[in-house]
Amino acid sequence: MKEECVHVMVRVRPLNKKELTEGDKNCITIDSDNAITLNDLQNTAGTRSYTFDRVFTETHTQKFIYDHSAFPIVEWLFEGFNCTIFAYGQTGCGKTHTMMGDAESQEHSGIVPRTFAHCRSIICADKNKRFLLKASYLEIYNECVYDLLCDKRTKLELKEDPKKSVYVKDLSVETVSTLEDMRKLMEKGNAARTVGATAMNQDSSRSHSIFTMYVEASEEVDGKSRYTSSKLSLVDLAGSERATKTNAKGSRLKEGTMINLSLSALGNVIQALVDGNSKYIPYRDSKLTRLLQDSLGGNTKTLMIAAVSPASSNFDETLSTLRYANRAKNIKNKPKVNMDEKDLAIKQYVEEIEELKVS
Ligand code: ADP
Ligand code: MG
Repeated sequence: MKEECVHVMVRVRPLNKKELTEGDKNCITIDSDNAITLNDLQNTAGTRSYTFDRVFTETHTQKFIYDHSAFPIVEWLFEGFNCTIFAYGQTGCGKTHTMMGDAESQEHSGIVPRTFAHCRSIICADKNKRFLLKASYLEIYNECVYDLLCDKRTKLELKEDPKKSVYVKDLSVETVSTLEDMRKLMEKGNAARTVGATAMNQDSSRSHSIFTMYVEASEEVDGKSRYTSSKLSLVDLAGSERATKTNAKGSRLKEGTMINLSLSALGNVIQALVDGNSKYIPYRDSKLTRLLQDSLGGNTKTLMIAAVSPASSNFDETLSTLRYANRAKNIKNKPKVNMDEKDLAIKQYVEEIEELKVS
């Protein structure tokens, strides 16, 4: 089976109002489409240069970023590959802007809403295949999993199926047949994220969210039916900044520790995977790494988008994000088309398969 590395891209946001008012300096130089240099303006740490699959600057539009990051991933999804896109970085650096953006606006909508329109155009263009599309939306907060599509906020459990893949027991997985259905699910989940955040005195930067689209496809090849089943997970991670920076105490510190538990577990998994000589990969150390197990070192095409600030006041966090991202480049996955003519579990879906109606 062919191996491929995790694709890693970096997006630099513009200096924000506060940074401009305070006279913060830009400490990032974009050297080319795929190279970035971080300059320590205090000149204690010197300059660091990194290369990635792509570096996006503040001038790149949401559409440009979609076309050069998520677009090929969604095409692969429809060919039967499992795919994951996750946004990593310090709070306020543009993870949610990149993944969700302003869903109402054509210009400012992010990857998730753009994915919907792209799915529809693939389905409409491919008359030889029949499709079934489903979606789920969850969040992990303080190491608990919540279903964002369920009216009642209840904690869900992670389970392992006989094939050793991890799933969330009782998670709502909704069938979607129009573009409008997809948007409604996304809005419902986003609203639940906000309500949960208010009720628990947290904000969304302290939780991880995963929007997943499931695609079942069938087509006739030489008189035989061919089935594929794949999924795309769109992950907006909690802020990666260290708790000390935010002066967190008490329950806030506990949250911070929990988030850092998931993110440091993610870091440890990445480290173990790229070490090459670790036999044991600590996926089981957090909910996040259990759920992302297949995206890191497994049967998935994975893209990480690291969001960074250009402000010199964020130098340490930006350096830490770029190092993290740089390490992730070396993770090797083994993606394959998920196809099985004999798999009855997939075959039974054919009864349900309906052309996606164009809304
Ligand atoms: P995060 O999810 O990483 O905490 P956000 O995506 O919420 O950060 O971004 C923080 C603020 O900065 C938001 O108001 C967002 O609209 C703005 N922002 C982030 N990235 C960009 C960008 N590339 N261009 C313009 N505004 C941005
Ligand atoms: Mg966010």
